[in-house]
Amino acid sequence: MSSAKGQLLRWLGDFVLNESTVRAVEIREPFATIELDPIVGVEPGDKIQVLLPSNDVRTYTPIAGSFTRLVAHLHADTPGPRWARSVRVGDRVRFKGPDRCVRLPEGRVTIVGDATSIATALAFAAARPGAVTALIEGSAPFEGLRSFVGEPSHTHAAIAEAIDPSSAVVLTGGSALVQGVRSHLRKRSIDAKTKAYWAPGRVGLD
Ligand SMILES: Cc1cc2nc3c(=O)[nH]c(=O)nc-3n(C[C@H](O)[C@H](O)[C@H](O)COP(=O)(O)OP(=O)(O)OC[C@H]3O[C@@H](n4cnc5c(N)ncnc54)[C@H](O)[C@@H]3O)c2cc1C
Repeated sequence: MSSAKGQLLRWLGDFVLNESTVRAVEIREPFATIELDPIVGVEPGDKIQVLLPSNDVRTYTPIAGSFTRLVAHLHADTPGPRWARSVRVGDRVRFKGPDRCVRLPEGRVTIVGDATSIATALAFAAARPGAVTALIEGSAPFEGLRSFVGEPSHTHAAIAEAIDPSSAVVLTGGSALVQGVRSHLRKRSIDAKTKAYWAPGRVGLD
């Protein structure tokens, strides 16, 4: 179903949208990695808001490199995953951004998240080799990420326990994960930035 935001973006078109071309797509359930011609100005933690062919708008995190990569979580048969599954080499992708979103100070950082945060973790890890700890709820079959699998109340406690309090911490991903880990960190008086990427029953938190 198209959204009012999507219709507005399509109408505003060239005034606000940038464009790139798909160069490769790899599906490894439950993820799609999409390589795009390099998007200028991408920094770790940026976001792009992709105008889907269905006129829906969904937010993804670009990873800078010789190509710009997106890692989309294929969680259901919803507009974002449908697009990520069906996009093909040579397709044009139109989007708003890149826009600044998750900003972290120089030095060691800990990124907590879930399947929607893998691109954020990979983007920071590529920009700051050796300085990034990524703690991911659920299976995360990507190099350099530590995954925590199990019942949420246990994984939230285990993730909080694994955080180095001397690093800058950001909590991303689903709202339950963000709130769950945050409540454990509060008990240890550890500060963390937060940015929820999705919430049950909500469409497009951005
Ligand atoms: C700043 C920012 C950066 C993001 N970066 C990424 C990224 O790099 N990769 C990525 O995959 N996602 C990312 N997301 C999350 C992504 O935008 C949302 O998951 C998006 O809403 C998915 O769209 P959809 O069409 O699948 O579901 P929607 O139609 O938006 O949602 C339908 C319902 O599905 C549920 N839902 C949504 N997402 C998930 C999920 N991942 N797992 C389980 N249930 C879910 C919710 O209950 C929601 O109400 C980001 C979000 C933000 C705000």
